Amino acid sequence: MCCMPFIHTSEITMLLIRAISVTGLVFLTYCSFGQTTQTSKVNTSAAEAYFKVADAIKSGDGEETTAWQVLFGTPVYQMMIVGRAIDTIALKAEMRHVFAPSTSFSQAELSAKELYHKSYKDNRSQLENYIAVLHRPGIIDSAKALLYPFLPVRLQSDSLFPALFYLNYGAPEATGYAGIVINDLFHSFRIDNYKFGLLTAHEAFHSIVSVAFQHALKKNINYNAADFNLLYFLQNVSEEGVADMIDKSLLSKKGSPVYDEVKQLTSNDEILSIQYIKSIDSLLKLSLTSEHVLQQYNGFSDLANSFGKNGGHIPGRFMGTVMQKEKLLPKHIIAVEDPISFILTYNEAAKKNGGKYPVFSKESIEYLQKLKAKYWQE
Ligand SMILES: [Zn+2]
Repeated sequence: MCCMPFIHTSEITMLLIRAISVTGLVFLTYCSFGQTTQTSKVNTSAAEAYFKVADAIKSGDGEETTAWQVLFGTPVYQMMIVGRAIDTIALKAEMRHVFAPSTSFSQAELSAKELYHKSYKDNRSQLENYIAVLHRPGIIDSAKALLYPFLPVRLQSDSLFPALFYLNYGAPEATGYAGIVINDLFHSFRIDNYKFGLLTAHEAFHSIVSVAFQHALKKNINYNAADFNLLYFLQNVSEEGVADMIDKSLLSKKGSPVYDEVKQLTSNDEILSIQYIKSIDSLLKLSLTSEHVLQQYNGFSDLANSFGKNGGHIPGRFMGTVMQKEKLLPKHIIAVEDPISFILTYNEAAKKNGGKYPVFSKESIEYLQKLKAKYWQE
């Protein structure tokens, strides 16, 4: 799911998930891009329409109605509008401020979002070249080369590889879910210049694994049940835990375009993760003895915010790192869509590591097996 490949689970993903639950099958249209030609998998229409709007504003073209209609009619904006993941009024105001023909403004007058829009303006010719690059062969193969070591062979197929959408989001967002990837154009451009395909590899992982997770579940389950929220939270931790193994070691190197952001986001990983693992373990243990423990949490977000950070990146990334260090990540990857496998393999790795890191208790494992029996197709 998210953005700076680590922000990804942020607002945009949750809103898109809501779009799915509201509209049912919006995304399936895009999931069936199966027959991979590069062109059918890469959709930059929203990014291109954005620049047309910018031109219309710049030329002082009144209300620029047509250009806006084209922008909001692109597939990615349709999804975001249905999911209420975008405030079109705010976007119009921001773009008008940044692209207006005559106004001169100082950086200080611009909001964070407007400054980000200004980066599309300042880097436009490079971004338009980048759009052309995306339509040439390369991006999908580069992403696959980075991604496939983290997927079992059964999930390494062209038909499962997501459709890639690019838009000028106004922030360094990216998300992958249910057969699609949505990348902010400028963010993707910066990361691709550093390592071509890296952002897409992380998000495509989410896209593919979230579909596999969905398929592994029993039919007709209650997605609002408290224990399903818990399973889904663990799934988020598990997905980020592996997805971050794809890109974080590269992105945290000097010279990475997001070096500072990654450093900041990962600075307390181990300490925080150890705390969260212990509190998740307590929660699981209590859940084994009382069904009511989980009821006190108000839905998925409440759980996710109480037992993790950044949509599961913490403690997921730490757990993935311990598995990788102990060479056990491949063992989990065989069952990559199964969050219980993630926890069991982490436990094995933490024990192998020599007792420095907390492990999940027997009672917790027993509860997780029950949860799996309830929701997983066997
Ligand atoms: Zn992610």
